[in-house]
Parts: sequence; structure tokens; C-alpha cells
Amino acid sequence: MPSKSLPVLPGATLGILGGGQLGRMFTIAARTMGYKVMVLDPDFSSPAGLMADVHLQADYTDADALRQLGERCDAVTTEFENVPAASLIALAGWCRVSPGADAVAIVQDRSHEKSWLADNSFATAPFALVNNEADLDTALAKTGTPALLKVSRFGYDGKGQARVATLDEARAAFREFDSQPCVLEGFVTLEREVSVVLARSDDGACALFPVAENRHESGILDVSIAPARVSDSLAQQARNMARDIANKLGYVGVMAVEFFIAGDQLMVNEIAPRPHNSGHYTLDACVTDQFEQQVRVLAGLPLGDTRLLSPVAMVNILGDRWHNGGPHWDTLLAHPNIKLHLYGKEAARPGRKMGHFNVLDADLDAALQLAEQMRHAL
Ligand code: AMP
Repeated sequence: MPSKSLPVLPGATLGILGGGQLGRMFTIAARTMGYKVMVLDPDFSSPAGLMADVHLQADYTDADALRQLGERCDAVTTEFENVPAASLIALAGWCRVSPGADAVAIVQDRSHEKSWLADNSFATAPFALVNNEADLDTALAKTGTPALLKVSRFGYDGKGQARVATLDEARAAFREFDSQPCVLEGFVTLEREVSVVLARSDDGACALFPVAENRHESGILDVSIAPARVSDSLAQQARNMARDIANKLGYVGVMAVEFFIAGDQLMVNEIAPRPHNSGHYTLDACVTDQFEQQVRVLAGLPLGDTRLLSPVAMVNILGDRWHNGGPHWDTLLAHPNIKLHLYGKEAARPGRKMGHFNVLDADLDAALQLAEQMRHAL
């Protein structure tokens, strides 16, 4: 890593690859702390680009844009896992880059990620790698049915996934995915899903946020609550596993680990090399939120206090709500304990994450109840 001195202090310029909502919230946190921010994103109306000091509108592999970013920034991070590893490597020739290309390369490919988890003895749902149609038969024998066929690259929010019950269905799904490499996963009867967001710094120090409990609708996160309603020992186990994963990856930056809970067994679902949707509750409910933490770890500052100040329920606002005249913001904002975050996206498409809101209440059940009520009233 280039020897620009650490910590990088306010007044310096931080860069981010990707200008979606995660990049936007990073940009807001960084600017609040007095940093300048450069965003690289090909989309002229990217949510983060609108907030940044400089928006480089170019592709993530554009050599000239990467050079500008690398030369003008003291440190660069990313908001999405599909960033080309070669771009991170190129940037690292100019400035500090976190997370590193090695860790991102593992977790951006579901086949690599699952194999890495198994090789390092982290429990997962039963799985098998599928590289061609002939693999499906033995893969199904290993996972049992029903199973989920998931593309290895570029799947998100339940996209690139198909539930299959027979070999014929698995073949049809594999063809539907253009015969690209996939992972077949046994379908787990989930009791709960939880996640842990953490930050790990260069010296190996680790700060973990409280465990969040997550509910998904059609493969997309719908509601997160913190603290998760699980036993202390299960919560501690999730935190220990997340920390072990970060240590084994030699990870530097903010990352999230999603878990399935079946019975009293914890299984790793996936790792995200960035802040996570299930960590948006930290924006209003923790001493330090996940984006300030991303700034801190990128700048080489001490990690912030991750203490939960209030029980909280976070609800995602998807583009689906814009039909019939749009969301009723007045209903939502009538509540003094609700914090609204909108991402500045122009086009509201079904399934598109447009914003979220956090409901804070000293009583978790009351927070969840109001969250559900507003989810419907919006
Ligand atoms: P993913 O994109 O792989 O995180 O999947 C999105 C959501 O689909 C998960 O959060 C679960 O709710 C559900 N899901 C994914 N894989 C499985 C599985 N093997 N068994 C049961 N549910 C799953």
C-alpha cells in the first residue's frame, strides 16, 4: 500500500467506487466529518454522485478515471462487491484501498465464497458447485430437494435464483441462467435470519455492531430489528463467527455476514464486503453508524463506538410504493420517533430500494408494531 501517512484527516479527499445508496450514505458521513468525496459511477444521476464534491462519470474499468481517482484521493473504498478486482489493484498503486482485492475476489463469487467458507470450517447450508448441466444430478443428491439454484456472479436481492424440486426443473433453471456457473443450495427451513456488520482495521482491531434480525420478502430485505430476538449465546456465536471470518480473510473495512438460523444451528448465508442494508438501523440507533465506521476504517482512524442507544426497527421502502400517487410521507413523518432516509433516486421501479425508515422506541415490540403499521399505511 502506498505510504501516504495515516490517519487521513478531515480536509483530505476520500473516493468510492459505486454511487448507489450505500455510496451516498458513505458520502454524507464523510462530508459531515469534513472530508471531500469523489465518486466513480457511470450513471449521471447516481445517488452518491449527487452528494459528492466530484462525480467521475465513467466505467469502473476506465483507466483514466481510475488514475484521476487514485491521484486525487488519499484513500478509496467501494460500495458494491462486483467491483472489478483489477480496478482495486490498479488504485492500490496510487493510494490506500480498502477492502483489498483478495477479499473482494472471494466474496464476489458465490462459488468461491461457499468453497472458502467450507474450507475454513464455517457452517453453511448444504451446497454443491454446478459448472455444467452434467453436475446437476450429483449436486441434487448432495443438497436434497427442494433446492435453490443461484448464479455465482452478479446475483442480488433474490435475482439469479430459482427454487427447484426435480432434476428437470434444475436443468430448466440452469439453462434459464445461460448455463453460467452456479451454486446449488439445499433449502433450509429458516427459524430466523440474522446478520452482523463489523469493521476491522489494519491492526486487526474489530468493532462489531449489535446483531440484527432480518425478514425478507421475495428475496429482498423488508424489515430489520435490533437487538435480534435470539438467545445471548446464539448472538455471541454469530458475532464470534463474523469476527473469525473477517480475521481469516485478513479483511480491512466494513463488512457484513448474513446468517440462517435453523433449530439452534447457525449457518453463514453470505458475506458482503461493504456496509449492508441490514445495518441501516445503525444510522439512528447507534453511537457510530456503519457509514461513519466505513470512513473511520478507510481513513485509518480508531473505530467508533458501536453501542445501541435504542431498540429499533428498520423498514425498506421499495419502488412498488410509488403506484397510486406515491407514498404518504405525511403519515410517516407525523411520528416523532421515525427517521426517514430517501436516496434521491428518480425512477421508482418495483423492487428498487428507494429509501428506508427507522422506528426508535425504548420497547422493541412497540417499535416493530409501529414499523409494521407504517409499512402498510405508507
Ligand atoms: P441470498 O440472495 O442468497 O441472500 O437470498 C435471499 C434470501 O432468500 C435469503 O435471505 C433467504 O431469505 C432466502 N434464501 C436464500 N437461500 C436460502 C436457502 N438455502 N434456504 C432457505 N432460504 C433461502
